[in-house]
Amino acid sequence: MPLFCKQCNGRRLPIFQTTEKVTLWLCEKCENFVDSQDTIIRELAKSEKDERNAKLENFKNSIVLTGEKMTRRKGVN
Ligand SMILES: [Zn+2]
Repeated sequence: MPLFCKQCNGRRLPIFQTTEKVTLWLCEKCENFVDSQDTIIRELAKSEKDERNAKLENFKNSIVLTGEKMTRRKGVN
């Protein structure tokens, strides 16, 4: 499994490609995808990068919301 990037030794993330129906491995540092044979398939597209950033923002926001809820609950008690 190409779990670690050959270029930067960073950890790769398995990303399922809905169009190709395969899992490619993404290095977030080098911003490229390899297949299970560790062959570089393509680079991370800008739209994909934006999508990932948007997801990350949503994730951060959901943490903030949960934190607010917990504070509120504490106030009630
Ligand atoms: Zn890398």
